[in-house]
Amino acid sequence: MSDETSKALHPETIALHAGWRADPATGAVAVPIYQTTSYQFRDTAHAESLFALKELGNIYTRIMNPTTDVLEKRVAALEGGVAALAVASGQSASAYALQNIAHAGDNIVSSTNLYGGTWNLFANTLKDQGLEVRFVDPSDPENFRRATDERTRAYYAETLPNPKLTVFPIAEVAAIGRPLGIPLIVDNTAAPVLCRPLEHGAAIIVYSSTKYLGGHGNSIGGVIVDGGNFDWAAHPVRQPALSSPDPSYHGAVWNEAVKPLGPIAYIIKARVTLLRDLGAALSPFNAFLLLQGIETVPLRMARHCENTAAVVRWLTTRPEITRVIHPSQQTGADRARAERYLKGGEGGLLGFELAGGRDAGRRFIDALKLFYHVANIGDVRSLAIHPASTTHSQLSGDELAATGVTDGYVRLSIGLEHIDDILADLSQALDAASR
Ligand code: PLP
Repeated sequence: MSDETSKALHPETIALHAGWRADPATGAVAVPIYQTTSYQFRDTAHAESLFALKELGNIYTRIMNPTTDVLEKRVAALEGGVAALAVASGQSASAYALQNIAHAGDNIVSSTNLYGGTWNLFANTLKDQGLEVRFVDPSDPENFRRATDERTRAYYAETLPNPKLTVFPIAEVAAIGRPLGIPLIVDNTAAPVLCRPLEHGAAIIVYSSTKYLGGHGNSIGGVIVDGGNFDWAAHPVRQPALSSPDPSYHGAVWNEAVKPLGPIAYIIKARVTLLRDLGAALSPFNAFLLLQGIETVPLRMARHCENTAAVVRWLTTRPEITRVIHPSQQTGADRARAERYLKGGEGGLLGFELAGGRDAGRRFIDALKLFYHVANIGDVRSLAIHPASTTHSQLSGDELAATGVTDGYVRLSIGLEHIDDILADLSQALDAASR
């Protein structure tokens, strides 16, 4: 189905149809797994034109593949973007999203409320590469402006970051950045379908498709979506990576070279330079599995949200729990943002704190029978983890406090099991934890 047709459709329909109708060679309806490394060029003129980006087409699976192409088109359509790049993991998606426009000596301003792995990437690996990430508290959007200087290339945040689960002020921060030529990059991993950050002014979306998009806990993957809604060419000084000759591609100036193909300079550059050189390519098989998952993501998100809301209501009645963390429990600006940005449900994640602290948290996790104890979220199955001793254990005490992880914090990712079975498992584990 064409990009234009799918724009008018609803998420349930986009998830099934965008980017594909049938295999032109065989008529196959399910997207085939094009398990090939390379593609035969028609003739030398064809090969030359592909390499010169005069036309788009398959060259080599490290940089594109027909199965992956459908995944890219489908995620771009779900977000209302113009094009996407699928990569091997969510981590490579966030790294490439920034490295694409920020180089040594530049800086990024990021929300403090981040997945622990992203925090490490920003605070250590990107720092080692000379790229400074300045962390700011997003509860006051003006903190982004305050941390900005002439070398700031992007703002970065997660829509629904755990553990705090406070929705990011997308429109407020995007509006600060746009006149300055600074795009807002949003990791929408925890809120597909529920939130479309591009509609609120974000310019680029990143995903760990490992989570809800794929949904079945079988494939690591990541996606970067180009909103096509950011005027890079209007800010040549702020965004030199797209406006000055790129020696890695025979001096191409991306804004000009890609213009005939549409507003996709940012994502083309990521594909033909970063993916070409760093090579975090998604396998066609994983692209197929992720596509399979995406077919049901709107349905699954609705059920994740419904089950999670029921668990939250139930947990608030339990005496051994001192605090339940979920958008429905928030007040003031956080509550207003949840209502503004999340539509059709408030996500499948929740946290809680046990009165018994770290020991009770560990006893609770060890007593679970139905919930899996894993370092993942967004699976069809219910999952639990104790972040302070696992996903966030590489952070210092100060960093832990900034991300909102306390000793007794337990994170749940609520799955699609029957709600009575979910509550029964939580009930017996809470009983065991307070013994
Ligand atoms: N972003 C968020 C919000 C995540 O939760 C994760 C993984 O947990 C990532 C990015 C990294 O994704 P991946 O594990 O696919 O590399």
